[in-house]
Amino acid sequence: MVFEQRRPGAVLFDRDGTLIRDVPYNGDPALVRPMPGALEALSRLRRADLPVAVVTNQSGVAKGLITADEMEQVNRRVEELLGPFDAWAICVHDDGDGCTCRKPAPGLVIRAAAVLDVSPRECVVVGDIGRDMDAARAAGARGILVPTEETLRSEIERAPEVAHDLGDVADRLLRETEAAPAALTAGGSAWSRTLGWSRW
Ligand SMILES: [Mg+2]
Ligand SMILES: [Zn+2]
Repeated sequence: MVFEQRRPGAVLFDRDGTLIRDVPYNGDPALVRPMPGALEALSRLRRADLPVAVVTNQSGVAKGLITADEMEQVNRRVEELLGPFDAWAICVHDDGDGCTCRKPAPGLVIRAAAVLDVSPRECVVVGDIGRDMDAARAAGARGILVPTEETLRSEIERAPEVAHDLGDVADRLLRETEAAPAALTAGGSAWSRTLGWSRW
């Protein structure tokens, strides 16, 4: 799929291993550590008026390893460290639950796009594993993989686009934004904010 280089409607980030270090099933806000360059990259995107959101699988809730409240405390800590996000779309289910939101399903991308009043096709999904890229593809969004040591070689090889780090992602998107004509989408200024997780 070829994406025109034009201003994205929104940039949707995976949380664990992308915005913050991956601590599996973490329910402790004290353990939240941003990934290198995360705050600066987000600040640059915000200054360019690009909406930023989080699309995250949190199956620890379905598994009973963390409570929804612990998950929300961790998310609040993420915002303390990295600033506010325009939307959060969270899947609290597990693989066997048959939900439509757990990545690689497209539901989180579709939900975040809806909250931000943009088309999924105008969204960029940034993540560290193949599930993120597959969710992007399934929703018609552009995917950019930022590999870590945990990322499989096959996931890198299959990725539609690979960036070195979040600074590299911001560089690309802002370069394209500058090169593109004014926003094609009338998104409005009052981005609604939501904790969009659900149990269905
Ligand atoms: Mg991840
Ligand atoms: Zn789900």
